[in-house]
Amino acid sequence: MSSSTKTEFQTYDNFINGEWTKNASGEMFPVYDPSTEEVIAQVASSNQADVEKAVKAARAAFDSGPWATTSAQDRGRILFKLAEKIRQNSARLAELECRNTGKPIVEAEYDIADVATCFEYYGGLATKVLGSVNPVPANALSFTLREPVGVAGQIIPWNYPLLMAAWKLAPALAAGCTCILKPAEQTPLTALEFANCFAEVGLPPGVVNIINGLGETAGAALVAHPGVDKIAFTGSAAVGKLIVKSAADTLKRVTLELGGKSPNIFFTDADWEASIDGALFGVFINQGEVCSAGSRILVEKKIYPQFVEAMTEKAKRIKLGAPLDRETKMGPLVSKEQYDRVSSYLELGKKEAKVAIGGNRPREFGKGFYLEPTIFYDVDNTARIAREEIFGPVATVIPFEAESDAIRIANDTLYGLAAAVWTRDIYKAFRVVKSLRAGIVWVNHMQPTYVEAPWGGYKQSGFGRELGPWGLEEYLETKQVFVNLDEAPINWY
Ligand code: ADP
Ligand code: MG
Repeated sequence: MSSSTKTEFQTYDNFINGEWTKNASGEMFPVYDPSTEEVIAQVASSNQADVEKAVKAARAAFDSGPWATTSAQDRGRILFKLAEKIRQNSARLAELECRNTGKPIVEAEYDIADVATCFEYYGGLATKVLGSVNPVPANALSFTLREPVGVAGQIIPWNYPLLMAAWKLAPALAAGCTCILKPAEQTPLTALEFANCFAEVGLPPGVVNIINGLGETAGAALVAHPGVDKIAFTGSAAVGKLIVKSAADTLKRVTLELGGKSPNIFFTDADWEASIDGALFGVFINQGEVCSAGSRILVEKKIYPQFVEAMTEKAKRIKLGAPLDRETKMGPLVSKEQYDRVSSYLELGKKEAKVAIGGNRPREFGKGFYLEPTIFYDVDNTARIAREEIFGPVATVIPFEAESDAIRIANDTLYGLAAAVWTRDIYKAFRVVKSLRAGIVWVNHMQPTYVEAPWGGYKQSGFGRELGPWGLEEYLETKQVFVNLDEAPINWY
């Protein structure tokens, strides 16, 4: 790298109370393009003092700012304007997302379109928050008010950066909360660029604050702060557990969307071509850096050898390349840390199972955190590669004999985020659907995700739901109001 490029780094401070704000320590951390391993930005590393500032701003905006009296209609309108801003800047945001995460540009474009749709959806939902009248037997009127939960701390991962920000910000704003967003340290850039339009769309200062920094410092301080009413987290199960423990001290509301080891189940009678495609797409989309990745591919024994062979043949066509190249189907992993992590699972997998394809760093790339799409087969469900979330382009293929075996193996995991089943037999399909312990089950597809439908996991994949009305619900409290209509005194004493 030439010395001149060093001076061109964009630097990003925190966004607090409507202003770009220097962090207390002055320390910055680098943000990389994982395809070139070059630094593309420097970002403020926040500590307790910075979190304090953000909480103060979010608290004031919630407790006494104009946001507190902004009508649901107007909150909805602001969300529509945010969607419009995203659409106006979609090409630039997609490119930035692509450069920062390493995901293929075509996928980044889908993500940004989904971001806009998410803001629109919750813009519409803002005016549809309804209470109820409760049929109490007294001479009274009992009803419920739905009120915002307060200041929401929102900690998001690096795999779908702006989309995860949207999934958290949009319902929170629709509900009337104020937010402190902590982007993943690897990929904060699109969320930070997005903040530049907040004032223009009419978001009052302090309603959305963005704190940059590491999980262990900025993230942990946000979770521990008594001025934060709720934490919404998407990330690893290990950090999810830390968050629940820390949040217990202040009894914060917590919602968690954690990892998975999702089964993708194929029966003999399923459409062959669609199945092979679906097995690959389910696990290799976004370099496999997907919480709902179909990383355990369960295949009925009758078709198992041909299935592994067909998957392998088709996987050879997956084009690895520069993220900005429109032909690219798989980019580098997001970071050196993730590359090392996944590489160690590749070595482990070679001991635990057989390699159908991949297992190494592709030779054609001198730089960048690239790994080959890898298919392990003859995997036993007790193997570590079948039990631990790898979060990379690594498939484990597991044979099964009967439907009951498929269900047993599918459910034999600590996780329960997603699952899919492929068959033309609707009886079998729905029997399996009902037996799977997972929050999302696809039939004859894997991965499509829509803002209208709920998203979240069973078991150690977390609790709470995002998207749809369920997502809004997580940002609302319920107040019961009892209005006595009996004018006589109680006459008790
Ligand atoms: P990964 O293992 O891929 O880094 P993490 O679960 O560590 O996934 O990260 C997801 C998000 O959680 C990131 O924004 C990260 O900064 C944050 N985070 C990590 N550790 C903590 C922590 N101890 N407390 C709060 N947030 C954290
Ligand atoms: Mg981490």
